Amino acid sequence: MQIRIDHHTCIGSGQCVLTAPGVFAQDDDGYSELVPGGTETAAPQQVQEAALSCPVQAIAVADGPPDD
Ligand code: SF4
Repeated sequence: MQIRIDHHTCIGSGQCVLTAPGVFAQDDDGYSELVPGGTETAAPQQVQEAALSCPVQAIAVADGPPDD
């Protein structure tokens, strides 16, 4: 699974972190970032839910090996 966060679009609402805390975290400025290694262990349904929860559609999910 590949997960991309558009850092120009993210507004730091934190919904992704609440939905999938093992995958997403918030940086010092409150914007979303990927948890190191989280992509490998992420549950696809949880990641999809996190992407859908984002109010500005800043998260893109695709099949394939993680590249983070
Ligand atoms: S849910 Fe979207 S806007 Fe909110 S922190 Fe996550 S990526 Fe950013």
